[in-house]
Amino acid sequence: MASAKQQLADWQLQDIEGSSKTSACPRRRGADILRDPHFNKGLAFTLEERLQLGIHGLLPPCILDQNVQVLQVLKNYEMKKDDLDRYIFLAALQDRNEKLFYRVLTSDIERFMPIVYTPTVGLACQQYGLAFRRPRGLFITIHDRGHIATLLKSWPEDDIRAIVITDGERILGLGDLGSYGMGIPVGKLALYTACVGMNPQQCLPVMLDVGTDNKELLKDPLYIGLRQKRVRGQAYDDLLDEFMEAVIERYGQNCLIQFEDFANINAFRLLNKYRNKYCTFNDDIQGTAAVAVAGLLAALRITGNKLSDHKFLFQGAGAAAVGIANLIVMAMKKEEVPQQQALSKIWMVDSKGLIVQGRANLTDEKLQFAHPHPEVRNLDDAVRCLKPTAIIGVSAIGGAFTEQIIKDMASFNKQPIIFALSNPTSKAECTAEQCYQLTKGQAIFASGSPFDPVTMEDGRVLYPGQGNNAYVFPGVALGVVACGVRHIHDEVFLIAAEAIVEKLFEEHLAEGRLYPPLNTIRTVSLAVAVKIAEYAFRNGLASLYPEPEDKESFISSLIYNTDYDEFLIDSYAWPEEASKIQTVKK
Ligand code: NAD
Repeated sequence: MASAKQQLADWQLQDIEGSSKTSACPRRRGADILRDPHFNKGLAFTLEERLQLGIHGLLPPCILDQNVQVLQVLKNYEMKKDDLDRYIFLAALQDRNEKLFYRVLTSDIERFMPIVYTPTVGLACQQYGLAFRRPRGLFITIHDRGHIATLLKSWPEDDIRAIVITDGERILGLGDLGSYGMGIPVGKLALYTACVGMNPQQCLPVMLDVGTDNKELLKDPLYIGLRQKRVRGQAYDDLLDEFMEAVIERYGQNCLIQFEDFANINAFRLLNKYRNKYCTFNDDIQGTAAVAVAGLLAALRITGNKLSDHKFLFQGAGAAAVGIANLIVMAMKKEEVPQQQALSKIWMVDSKGLIVQGRANLTDEKLQFAHPHPEVRNLDDAVRCLKPTAIIGVSAIGGAFTEQIIKDMASFNKQPIIFALSNPTSKAECTAEQCYQLTKGQAIFASGSPFDPVTMEDGRVLYPGQGNNAYVFPGVALGVVACGVRHIHDEVFLIAAEAIVEKLFEEHLAEGRLYPPLNTIRTVSLAVAVKIAEYAFRNGLASLYPEPEDKESFISSLIYNTDYDEFLIDSYAWPEEASKIQTVKK
């Protein structure tokens, strides 16, 4: 992987020689350097660099250390009046000075993650037209059919290793946000770098705009997308097929493509269609499954029993629910429970009630969780009849875990498992406070969006687990990309779940946590990447050769460094400037 410094020197050499390897390489000199977020370091450029790069005089004379720049950013950040302002401020920093942006994010990931990701990213997507300053990522529309390869050529980077793509149809629990959904790939990729150190220049956010069925957006004067109803059917599928082929043609077979926030009518279909042909996964199905199963494995350390001792009831039977349920089945099979027996422990309620055998129009994904039982209309009744040990909310129906349901769960379980995973916060099935107070601190709780710690009457402070996919997808991505894994098997996500729980220590469990503290997410993500690399080589799935002996140091060596590069150009590249430097030094 070439560093920014090497690339800069290469490009300048090309300019001097009057030839350019690719037409996408711009001239990087003078004011252009200051406008390019990959290279710009603002007032941190040294005098030598300013002279050599032709930017002397374009900056005030003072030279600041990167740490002082971080303090300056933080002071500004503190003056912002709300989270949307904070989001816009950080996005502007990302557009201006990438290294500083990631330095700030990694300085306190727990503080900044809720701004660049859920819940604030949800708000930002809803107001993307207002928040929009500069485009970030690639916007491909249904009208670009036949030309996607050309669009990809316009992207200025030749070495893309990971793409996050959405069509904006199911953004968090907020529904169809069309092109406003671009905030999600942008936010996810920011976490690729912040949580595990993927090089941001090798990451590409993509919005596939096929229109929107959101009537409000179609009337919104600030809407940035196509003003038409969603195109579906063959034309939609052709667009996706063309995109996948164009990506491997430009970036190679090993380029990772993460699907994000597609509606479930497309999510499963596309995953099944592409999983054995490309290097791809669906985060809503598989990433969510890993993080939820990690939470359940952690819960078992509190309850002291096995997964197969539990009965799970899902509120919601979409991408997240089916993904989690399938991974629970895989984990139970590791406990040597036969498939049918494992399936029989899992129940689901969707918008029409309990999924039972004989109910009309069940999709194949739901059918496997349909058991013989009389019909039950709603979650309250299902909880009372089935007496589950765990309820998992993934329906985007805020408040669905009512006081009665939570109390019922506590009445038939010593330690009920209650996961309110819907995002953003307004869609959570219950709050941490409600869950802990109504069960007198008995519940084992996790949520999708962050909740503050809860102080109980007896003085105990309980830290709700945040079942945040960010524990999973950055580490999975780095492990896969580092080893050149061609196809991503479901087992990868079980390995990720186990790796996360290995980083959860007794002191964390004692505080009620089901996940390692967020401020340790970089260590956790690295551990996930290393476990996946080991799995890939063990099972002949890695295309990287030769196999690195020490996987951890190999993967660590790839991690993006937020320290600024030094731009010192060889004298043969810029003889004129080099002699000036000598003069300055004298
Ligand atoms: P989806 O659209 O695929 O599924 C939603 C499901 O909820 C559908 O099965 C639907 O029938 C069901 N539903 C709708 N109304 C209902 C009702 N009144 N009662 C019961 N079920 C009802 O969406 P998804 O991808 O499964 O995501 C669902 C939610 O989970 C979203 O809020 C999303 O943000 C959240 N989620 C959280 C995480 C996480 O925290 N790590 C990860 C992924 C998804």
